[in-house]
Amino acid sequence: MPKVLLAFIVASVVTQVAMLTTTVFLHRTLSHRSLAIRPATRFTFRVITWMTTGIRPRQWVAVHRKHHAYTDEEGDPHSPLLLGFWQVQLGNVVYYKRTARDPEVIRKYAKDLPQDAWDRVLFDHAFLGLGIGITIVWLIFGWEVGLMVAGFHAVIYLLMNAAVNAIGHRFGKKVYENSARNSQWLAWFVAGEGLHNNHHAAPTSANLALSPGEVDPGWWLVSLLVRTNQAQVRLSEVRFARPRVPGEAARNLDEMSPEAEEPVAAR
Ligand SMILES: [Zn+2]
Ligand SMILES: [Zn+2]
Repeated sequence: MPKVLLAFIVASVVTQVAMLTTTVFLHRTLSHRSLAIRPATRFTFRVITWMTTGIRPRQWVAVHRKHHAYTDEEGDPHSPLLLGFWQVQLGNVVYYKRTARDPEVIRKYAKDLPQDAWDRVLFDHAFLGLGIGITIVWLIFGWEVGLMVAGFHAVIYLLMNAAVNAIGHRFGKKVYENSARNSQWLAWFVAGEGLHNNHHAAPTSANLALSPGEVDPGWWLVSLLVRTNQAQVRLSEVRFARPRVPGEAARNLDEMSPEAEEPVAAR
């Protein structure tokens, strides 16, 4: 098999692992508390996040909650309706970093995820995590494939996450009354996140598929975690958020992330 093809296949697998971790851990568990995950599995997700994305969870959570608080209005960190579709599709990471580096945003939106000793020693050092991830692929497949995997993965992961924000607020079906859109085709690539109109309608739902015919691959991982007793879905019913009124004050944190003000005892 040509090395470039092997690298693309390996990178696609790594990207899917990163997407599933992003949606199930960073998004559904930490940002919206739709799941409670057992400590050892939770720690495993922290390690995978660190080695496949370098993302600091409290930063991701804060940026994302701010997005829900000001969706497609002044204050939204990455709205394609305010900034332009291509700006967000290609420059999402720049907008993300701009908000993620604001200590005020972290204080306000991620107070339930304070920096702990593991963060200080390991998880806040993105390049260490990514370096270990690349080294593992390097040791298995050789340095050429290892470097190509790192490059492919970085590009695909960033574009896919950008697509959730750009396509997810610009193109697709509007089932519920909010500014986000559903794209099932996108959902297949981004572990269910393409059902973004559903998500803004019911942000605390652990399953992003709300109608027959919709498929949320992220829910498959949630179901597996529940069946193996590693996670619990927190809300038994789908709770729809009140439609956001343009110009109103920022959405209440509690509405998108129940009990978000309380510290998480077992991270
Ligand atoms: Zn959104
Ligand atoms: Zn969300």
